[in-house]
Amino acid sequence: MDLLLHTCCAPCSLFSWQAFQEKGYNVYGYFFNPNIHPYKEFSKRMETLRAWAAQEGHKVFIDERYLLEDYLQQVAAVACAAEKRCPICYRIRLEETARQARAKGLKNISTTLLISPYQKHELLRKMGAEIAQAHGVQFVYADLRPGFRESMNQAREKNLYRQGYCGCIYSEKERYHPESRKLAKQKKR
Ligand code: SF4
Repeated sequence: MDLLLHTCCAPCSLFSWQAFQEKGYNVYGYFFNPNIHPYKEFSKRMETLRAWAAQEGHKVFIDERYLLEDYLQQVAAVACAAEKRCPICYRIRLEETARQARAKGLKNISTTLLISPYQKHELLRKMGAEIAQAHGVQFVYADLRPGFRESMNQAREKNLYRQGYCGCIYSEKERYHPESRKLAKQKKR
């Protein structure tokens, strides 16, 4: 059983890859992340993944297209609040993963986003299934969150680059801009 695994970065791939392999899938990675800003960060994550995959002997399709304008056009049109932008961001990446799987003759898709405790897990599950069905492939769901810490620890041990924010310019602001950090904390209370 082949599976095209949408891959956001190397650190999240460590545990995810293994988890799907243990379920019996022949895993192919697919790096497609037009949300990542700026380009230097995009490039750093992409090259870290490429190097790690080569070292492990994993097959990864690296989509080098940096479609920042397309991404921003869709996200900025609605609002920059995470509640609105993240679903669009997921959709862009999952849709393309499903299209690529179809084009490559792979029947199953999934995403490393399922490992993150910071993502909207149930939404990913529901959206993944809808998108896969629309494209004639199968979304393979797994709750990978219990492996998040382990994956990050492994990445640290392997000295892999680990990013400080989710990816988009808004998340970079929320991570580093003092006022935005304060607001985000208040929202969580
Ligand atoms: S916070 Fe992360 S998931 Fe949400 S829009 Fe930004 S990059 Fe995408």
